[in-house]
Amino acid sequence: MLRIGHGFDVHAFAEGRRLILGGVDVPCARGLAGHSDADVLAHALMDAVLGAMRAGDIGKLFPDTDPAYEGADSLVLMRRVAELARERGYRILDVDCTVAAQAPKLAPHRGRMRENMAAALGVPVDAVGVKATTTERLGFVGREEGIAAWAVVLLDDGR
Ligand code: MG
Repeated sequence: MLRIGHGFDVHAFAEGRRLILGGVDVPCARGLAGHSDADVLAHALMDAVLGAMRAGDIGKLFPDTDPAYEGADSLVLMRRVAELARERGYRILDVDCTVAAQAPKLAPHRGRMRENMAAALGVPVDAVGVKATTTERLGFVGREEGIAAWAVVLLDDGR
């Protein structure tokens, strides 16, 4: 049977942080605030996978109260989520993501984001889509207060 999962995440911009999106260190004067590396795109994707597995969310799996996850590389966490999916008999078939950021321009980095996340999930690059959009200067994204990301995933549950 096929299972669908959806993930959503938001992180606020913060001074003195690197901007990590889909495992890519994107050149930017500011990064995102967070306990881990604050990779909002990777977080949305992981929540989509966990959602399709009906296995909670990354907050439950990797609590931000746990010092082990301070500054954590979200792609390492993504590998663990993918392992968990495989252990439970799921196969990740297809993923699509959207990142909403007013700035910086993300289009030049989409290819590497797809490669990084496909490698972390153990799927072909073709199985991971990443799109970037602005919000036409509307809302918190448009005011450059933060970045939002959405992801959907299709899993085969092996049954
Ligand atoms: Mg997050």
